[in-house]
Amino acid sequence: MPEIKKICTITGKEFSISEQEQELRKKFGVELPDIHPYERLRYLFTFRNYHTLYARKCDMCQKNFLSVHDPASPFQVYCMSCWYSDKWTPPELELDLDKPFFEQLEILTKKTPRLGQIAAKPMENSDYCNACSGLKNCYMTFNATGCEDCYFCIGTSYAKDSIDLGVCEKSELSYDSQSCNGCYHVFWSEYLENCQDCYFLYDCADCSECALSTGLRHARHVFLNEQLNEREYAEKVKELQKGDYQKLQEHRKKFEELKKNYKNKYLIGVKNEDVSGNFIYTSKSIEDSYLIIDSENCVNIANVWNAKDCLDIASFGVMNAENCYCCCAIGLDVMNLRYCTLCITGSHDLEYCVELSASHDCFGCIGGNKNEYKILNKQYSKEDYKKTVAKLKEKMKERGEYGKPQPQTLNPFAYNEGLAMIHMPLKKAEAEKLGYKWKEKKIPQVPADKVYQPKDNINDENWADFQGKFVICEKSKRPFKIIKQEFDFYKKHNIPLPRIHPEVRMLDRYPSDLLFNLHKAQCANCQTTLQTSMPKKDQVLCEACYQETIY
Ligand SMILES: [Zn+2]
Ligand SMILES: [Zn+2]
Repeated sequence: MPEIKKICTITGKEFSISEQEQELRKKFGVELPDIHPYERLRYLFTFRNYHTLYARKCDMCQKNFLSVHDPASPFQVYCMSCWYSDKWTPPELELDLDKPFFEQLEILTKKTPRLGQIAAKPMENSDYCNACSGLKNCYMTFNATGCEDCYFCIGTSYAKDSIDLGVCEKSELSYDSQSCNGCYHVFWSEYLENCQDCYFLYDCADCSECALSTGLRHARHVFLNEQLNEREYAEKVKELQKGDYQKLQEHRKKFEELKKNYKNKYLIGVKNEDVSGNFIYTSKSIEDSYLIIDSENCVNIANVWNAKDCLDIASFGVMNAENCYCCCAIGLDVMNLRYCTLCITGSHDLEYCVELSASHDCFGCIGGNKNEYKILNKQYSKEDYKKTVAKLKEKMKERGEYGKPQPQTLNPFAYNEGLAMIHMPLKKAEAEKLGYKWKEKKIPQVPADKVYQPKDNINDENWADFQGKFVICEKSKRPFKIIKQEFDFYKKHNIPLPRIHPEVRMLDRYPSDLLFNLHKAQCANCQTTLQTSMPKKDQVLCEACYQETIY
């Protein structure tokens, strides 16, 4: 099967459909797409929000909680214990085969209570977190597992005593770092494995007491990629430990320069076979996919682990999914899902479903646990279900509905509330041009006496002066608080107080510039042609040349 070229009907950009994708489409019985793969993923990402939270009441128990749904949403929103209780029955709708199906699904969607927050037990003292499991004493941490005393972390697992981490695993006492695994006491660093006591390191492994350097392995006392002795290093590194904001900005600038001049490997990831995209680990036969672990034979998927034979899947993290197509936020042992959002925990054979758990053989259902043979939440016998779904699909095909993802009219989120904004950030006008909603975030006004201007040096800060006050974000102008534990962390580690709102920091830190950008480039050393998603302006190396420069 040769590759097929097409022009995206949304962006006008050319894209190709590989033999692997064609095989998957044949298996799923779905037509060739006329939309660019990234626009397909963008669309799916808009259906999930885990980090834009609103204080609101649960519409059942009336308790206050933090919800992903704005209090102004047209539907009811339940807290987790109410949603998972047997105190409510999802409303149902009688299917009318002759009416557009998506209109019926929209009516049902607006009538159905939604789940406001997702967290898997045990959770301890971590109410301000979402899309997570097993957190203890965490705050504003999302898409995270097994963390303790972590604040403002995203996509992070088994981290401890850390602030501002993105996509990190098993790191401790770390700050403002991205993709650092198995690290201890690392600050302002990216792409580290098993490093400790390091500052401003980029793409390093097994290093300790190193700073402002790139591409180190098994190093100690290296500063600006220069080997120093212990005493010299101790002298130099003092500069980075002063807790001075202006100095920190200078170091950041220096670090950006070092990164700019560094030749990266064409793909971030290890132990792969035949993969393209970025951030791919221990996977095989993966095409144009991002943030992938332990997966096989998938095309155009993002932020998923343990996927097999999947196409066009956005988000979940830990998932275990097989044979799924065109879904967002599915996972935890699911199979044969299509056009679904937030269907989890052992669900299989679902189409056009939303927020189902442990359910199978449902079509167009929303909200509930342990469902089977239901259409628009209405119960059918197994035989009737199969016959009716077959008829419904025929009718939907005649109307050109079947095979399309869920329409945006079913999407409760605006572009800038959801995961699309993290992975594929857009400006308001750009998002609206693509047909997405945008929510103006009102900037709360803080009285002048409540505004705090952080001091140049953390050593001059006192909790008593700061308590009850807000910092105004230098970028977004949004006021934000600093909690006591966070303040203590900055004090203890000599870090100047942040001037940027945590959400802005989170978005800035996310490696969105290295995602969804697959293009041809040449190895800067041997000129081999490569497929890479690193920024076009960056020089990249093939695996062999990279290994040579590193070791
Ligand atoms: Zn409740
Ligand atoms: Zn090369």
